[in-house]
Amino acid sequence: MKTKQYTVLFCDFLNPINDNECEYVREGAIVWTDAPKHQILVASKRDKVLSWLEKEQKKHRGLQIQEIDRSGYTAMPGFFDTHFHWVQDDVRLKPKANLLTWLAKYTWPYEKKFANKEYSQKRAHKFAQELLACGTLGGMVYSSIHGHTVDHGLKNFVGHFCVGNVLMTMNSPDYLIQTKTNAISLVNKYSKKFKEKYAMTPRFAPTTHPEVMKEGAKIAKKNKSFIQTHLSETENECDYVLGLYKEHKGFENIESYTHIYKKCGVLGPKTIMGHGIYLSDKELKLLSKSKTSVAHCPTSNAPVKNKGLGSGLFDFKKANKFKVNWSLASDIGGGPFLSMFDVMNSFVEQNKKKKISGVTYVMALYRATLAGAKLMHLDKVTGNFAKAKEANLFLVKSPRNCRNSQEAIARISNRKGRSKQDELVSECYFQGKQVFLRS
Ligand SMILES: [Zn+2]
Repeated sequence: MKTKQYTVLFCDFLNPINDNECEYVREGAIVWTDAPKHQILVASKRDKVLSWLEKEQKKHRGLQIQEIDRSGYTAMPGFFDTHFHWVQDDVRLKPKANLLTWLAKYTWPYEKKFANKEYSQKRAHKFAQELLACGTLGGMVYSSIHGHTVDHGLKNFVGHFCVGNVLMTMNSPDYLIQTKTNAISLVNKYSKKFKEKYAMTPRFAPTTHPEVMKEGAKIAKKNKSFIQTHLSETENECDYVLGLYKEHKGFENIESYTHIYKKCGVLGPKTIMGHGIYLSDKELKLLSKSKTSVAHCPTSNAPVKNKGLGSGLFDFKKANKFKVNWSLASDIGGGPFLSMFDVMNSFVEQNKKKKISGVTYVMALYRATLAGAKLMHLDKVTGNFAKAKEANLFLVKSPRNCRNSQEAIARISNRKGRSKQDELVSECYFQGKQVFLRS
């Protein structure tokens, strides 16, 4: 019989519970099993865990305990980044004026390069390392229009990722456009192949024919795949979309941007909308009723002087009021940096600047971890250190003399300058295995 093995990680840890609660344990320990999925058995104070282990050793003869000592380091659950474009890594720091010109000038020409399979594979490998260096172990990902960019993303990224090729069948440059038939057949192929790891991804309503969205949504729902797209990121875009769709047969009387997606069958509990900044109460009701979620991307929406696109600020309080689920996301390359610490800082700072009360680092961490897992229907599997969840975590150097979780998270998130936050994470574990160690 195979002997049982537990792994015990000695460290401080931060365990997000909800918007108002985050457990902060100094001199703690996290124990997980070796099989089948490296589930967490206990996460608590070190002495409590040690006496629990003693009892376990009596219960299971020959139990092996592997110790990893990371005293002086703080473990946090792997980040979930619920909206980013892995094929925009090289445009994230390009000059930004506004969404529509930035797309046409930098982003689309760059995405064209991914038609080359070798290039795509090479970049996916590189991007996977960047994700690990930031402690991101899950998320919703946009690739380019090329099918192989889905394969390359899923093959390389370590963690719980869901990837979709963007669908572009109209109002797109001739070097980055596909036929309706081609778009639908790609959705069919990849939705069947990857199920819940695939997302049917209209780039946004202006670039994707309503018939494609309708058919794609049907296919995605049949295969239990996700759906993701952009919604109400800028006011310009909203006007543009409504103007366009009023010309489409059957859409003459649409009331709003969200209404277009509703008419195409795109809304639902497995649908995640990027941004959602300019939404009326009626639209929020539509999202809430259909259980559609929003990925809020504060660094991407931030003012141009802060390296964002200057789109505005998502009203999280209103989303809460209408019971719309939301989580945080980097929106690389609209967002300038991949680290979710940067996203958390921006979320807290921008809301504080606007004198919006109640925003905290505890909330920011919850929305960058467990809330993201919830959007992806993975909150029973991962997202924090609750018992029976997978051991998915990263480690950072512990801050000194923090009185509570709020202080600890704030201190860690602000330790380095914006462009160096991808240096905070020293190590990552996914399903109990070390998958990243900073050299
Ligand atoms: Zn985006």
